[in-house]
Amino acid sequence: MGPAIDKTLLRALPKIDEVMKQHQVNRLLEMHPRSIVVDGIREAVELIRQDILKGSFNSDPANLFDLVIERALKQVAAATRPNLRRVINGTGVVLHTNLGRALLSEAARQAVDAVAAVYCNLEFNLATGKRGSRYEPLEELLVRLTGAEAALVVNNNAAAVLLALGTLARGKEVIVSRGQLVEIGGSFRIPDVMEQSGASLVEVGTTNKTHPRDYRNSISENTALLLHVHTSNYRIVGFTRETTVAELVEIGREYNLPVMSDLGSGFLVDLAKYGLPVEPSVQDTVAAGADVVTFSGDKLLGGPQAGIIVGKRKHIEKMKQNPLTRAVRINKFTVAALEATLRDYLDAERVLEKIPTLKMLTEPVQTIYERAEALVNGLRPKLTTRVELKIMQGYSQVGGGSMPTAELPTYLMSCLPARMSADELAQRLRQTDPAVVGRLQDGCFLVDLRTVQPDEIDLLAAVMADILNSAGG
Ligand SMILES: *Cc1c(COP(=O)(O)O)cnc(C)c1O
Repeated sequence: MGPAIDKTLLRALPKIDEVMKQHQVNRLLEMHPRSIVVDGIREAVELIRQDILKGSFNSDPANLFDLVIERALKQVAAATRPNLRRVINGTGVVLHTNLGRALLSEAARQAVDAVAAVYCNLEFNLATGKRGSRYEPLEELLVRLTGAEAALVVNNNAAAVLLALGTLARGKEVIVSRGQLVEIGGSFRIPDVMEQSGASLVEVGTTNKTHPRDYRNSISENTALLLHVHTSNYRIVGFTRETTVAELVEIGREYNLPVMSDLGSGFLVDLAKYGLPVEPSVQDTVAAGADVVTFSGDKLLGGPQAGIIVGKRKHIEKMKQNPLTRAVRINKFTVAALEATLRDYLDAERVLEKIPTLKMLTEPVQTIYERAEALVNGLRPKLTTRVELKIMQGYSQVGGGSMPTAELPTYLMSCLPARMSADELAQRLRQTDPAVVGRLQDGCFLVDLRTVQPDEIDLLAAVMADILNSAGG
């Protein structure tokens, strides 16, 4: 048997209507919808009832009203807190798909803000007063930056690949190397996308070696396209042979077949001199003669989520006519953010400063060290509890399924609280606002300063101090 239930206390629990008449509730009603306030009070009363039933009620019965209101405030706060919240990224993964991939540049952020709550000329030609195209301004910039003849932008790269395959090869065969049948996170698999598009996959070669002759031997009257997929999130190393886009273009010319390259994380600025792996840029791929090139807007490009398609005009025009294009069309926020991002690229001298993704990837390690020092120095004086703070070396990752072998030297703050496990610290930091996500290693909580923005240091120190101090001691 449980403890004796205090019936007097249960009877004394206030009625919802009575609580609604309290003056503190008026203030809540000014800020929040009535239904949410009523629900909050009902939940608060219920929680206290449960406490009484469990025998765990140990407050002063004279203050039941205040207690209900106090609990109701918490319920209302929880119910009205947005689900999508800011996160301080201490993981060191620059393009973290779960944390929203690329951060927009300042110009892109302003561009979105400028059209968010007002009308704009998204599809209205202000010169002629007639209908305009949402794609045209983006196409001009993309043509200029990539050297391609034409361009089209859709919702994401998965949609771009689907649209391109469906337009160029529906009911026909597409030849792909067995070494390039990739799966990208979130269940994007080349064989599945192929099936969705209505094209049939013809696999050639082996996992580690695919020769030009393998493609040649598989070409038939049903072949519509030669596809090259950039193995963006893994590497096959050792005894390998990949047929390059340039070699495919040669074969394509021989047999009069178009060649498509899915670059995944296409980039416009070569980062090899900053210690990142040598990979083909979008311009290189276009220059190699690929007829169609697809890549993401929010991977290494550092813009909004989008799927960018550049290539020969006749193929792009055909894609624009495909009804699927309407189903995967971009909205005004994407148009605004992408246009501003591409304009940032026109400023070649400053683009690494302007695009946060590029800035983080090319940050001098000394700057990251200084940020780690600033965090330690900001956090230490705020602590009223014993915590071991250290600066240590480590590696950051590009992320977003890009450049999987790249190891970027970085500095991390390691945090070992005396009164709390690192797991518990990590768990509690995920509940704060902003939430903080770091790494766990050898019983310590780590924050990689590469992905913490310079203007987030004070905020991060304050949030961490709050949680660490709450453990006492
Ligand atoms: C990331 C990636 C995709 C999918 O792009 P999303 O923008 O995530 O839709 C497709 N192909 C390759 C090779 C990729 O790396």
